[in-house]
Amino acid sequence: MALPAEFGLIARHFAPLAGPGALALLDDAALLPGPAGTELVLAADALVAGVHFLPDDPPGTLGRKALRVNLSDLAAMGAEPLGYLLTLALPPGTDDSWLAAFAAGLAEDQAAFGLHLLGGDTVSTPGPLSLSLTILGRVPAGAAIRRTGARPGDEAWVSGRIGDGWLGLRAARGEWPDPDGRLARRYRLPEPRLATGQALRGVARAMMDVSDGLLQDLGHLCRAGGCAAVVEAACIPVSDRAAPVAALATGGDDYELLLAAAPEDAARCAALGLARIGRFTAGPPRVTMVDEEGRDITPARLGWSHV
Ligand code: ADP
Ligand code: MG
Repeated sequence: MALPAEFGLIARHFAPLAGPGALALLDDAALLPGPAGTELVLAADALVAGVHFLPDDPPGTLGRKALRVNLSDLAAMGAEPLGYLLTLALPPGTDDSWLAAFAAGLAEDQAAFGLHLLGGDTVSTPGPLSLSLTILGRVPAGAAIRRTGARPGDEAWVSGRIGDGWLGLRAARGEWPDPDGRLARRYRLPEPRLATGQALRGVARAMMDVSDGLLQDLGHLCRAGGCAAVVEAACIPVSDRAAPVAALATGGDDYELLLAAAPEDAARCAALGLARIGRFTAGPPRVTMVDEEGRDITPARLGWSHV
């Protein structure tokens, strides 16, 4: 299965720099030995105006989105949050009221998710506003849920609704009906599945968060586990059956959990509100999506590359 350009670039230039704890740059976060029976969990994600958010998105939601996409990587490891570092590159003319609204949004989410700011950097840029956030979390030693570990016979499960990122971007642009504003809100403020991620320790054999398209991200679990996967399109939980399932299954920005679990753990997954979307099978890493008659309806492009 071809890897998007972004992953080739990381493998060529940055993987050779990685050391112990980096998980070969193939996971959602890094793991380092922590104090008293814990491991520290570290991840970073950047957002750029016009790429990851709409330039006129309200400032109050931007910091919260940056925080939440990072929290989603902690959730994908089964970790709990501790703190974060924030780096801002601000275009000229960013005024104090903008920054006040930005910080007020962060204050709200810090309280909601139980972490605090540890430091960062502020610079100016001739380009678009960008923010980079580095998050620190922890797990009991040995309990982190990695991307490796899916095996043939395991079932694939997801949290929440897949494609709400795709629908939400369109709703935020006024291109998709969204009478109560739920979809646009979901695009601006993804919901990191921290409690679910922690509850899946000891259940999920492999897990990641879906940020670049369900099918492409499932391909990562397949490569990491050395197996293939089949997804039943009709089983994918979606908000709007009128939307093309290929778009929902390949669109970005969902920040839901995607995991492999043994069939005997099906009841535990269902009790967490997860939806079973397919299974892992023997064979070279490959993702296939089928319709209700079992016909192959796998789209040519499985997800997003950022470069
Ligand atoms: P996610 O979508 O889970 O945030 P990405 O797809 O952005 O993860 O990145 C995939 C992996 O590559 C992660 O392990 C990440 O830490 C690593 N990575 C991406 N860019 C860089 C970089 N510039 N330097 C080091 N590691 C990187
Ligand atoms: Mg991730």
